[in-house]
Amino acid sequence: MKIYGNKLIKDTIQNMSEKDRMAHSFLICGEKGLGKKTIADWLAALLVCESAEKPCFACRSCHLASEHTHPDIIYAEHSGKLGGFSVDTVREICSDAYIKPNNGDKKIYIFTDADKITVQAQNSLLKLIEEPPDHAYFIFTVTDRNIILETIRSRVISLNAAPLSRDELMEVLAENGVSGANAEEAASAFGGNAGKCLEYISSDVMKNAVDLTKKVTDCIINRDEYGILKNLTDASADKDMFKTVIGMLDSIIRDALALRYDPDSMTGCYSSGARELSSGTTMNACEKMHEALGKAYSLIDKNVNIKLIASVLCGEITAFRQL
Ligand SMILES: [Zn+2]
Repeated sequence: MKIYGNKLIKDTIQNMSEKDRMAHSFLICGEKGLGKKTIADWLAALLVCESAEKPCFACRSCHLASEHTHPDIIYAEHSGKLGGFSVDTVREICSDAYIKPNNGDKKIYIFTDADKITVQAQNSLLKLIEEPPDHAYFIFTVTDRNIILETIRSRVISLNAAPLSRDELMEVLAENGVSGANAEEAASAFGGNAGKCLEYISSDVMKNAVDLTKKVTDCIINRDEYGILKNLTDASADKDMFKTVIGMLDSIIRDALALRYDPDSMTGCYSSGARELSSGTTMNACEKMHEALGKAYSLIDKNVNIKLIASVLCGEITAFRQL
């Protein structure tokens, strides 16, 4: 198990470990694909590792941790349609946390993809996180840290998973058998997000979504109303595809806005498109388009006819583009 990039997170945790000042609760934040779960696994291995240099990935505990079979590393089970954590799961953890560890002197509870955790579940965990037993540790991974209640956030160490540098990304892609033009294309679509790059390479759906998103962006840049409508309508043939395209298009618009403040903060799949948009469009227009995309995105799940959403959105984008 290896964490690529994310030196700040590694240094922070290793520093705490070396100084014997390990925190008990961690919140690992960042968008999908940045390796939050790998960071959580790495941190759990470090906590149970038996060697001086942690995590060594040579000792028995590290081995069990990387196989996900360590008896004291407990992954909270997701439940229900929304993928949150059930009252029973949380209750079980709350009582299990007071029972001594099986192997060593630590027990680690990991809540992955905790974005759907309910307020009720968080409140049940609060006391445990406020005053954990000496042996208990908690790790949450979320895409949006605001999901976590302020009362909990104030008691956890927040760590932000960061995109990889170009070299780091190329190394990950090469290890996964991807190089040359494919690697370049994925990198230009998703920047330092290794998870998204790998998904893009292995899935035609993702490739089609990126193609359509780039086409819509080009049409916005060229003020081609017919093209915007045509490509959005093509995307609207499938609900998931439409959602993906709208989401990616919004990232490009947000990149176009963010570029004015920070040229390195791009997260979308079309950085050259975002640059063109940024230089040729007013900030006001970008903001309006961002709002329109957000509104369209939220309507997709509300049983509104998708083709209708596409055509309204096209009209709005065209109108705002003139601003
Ligand atoms: Zn070890």
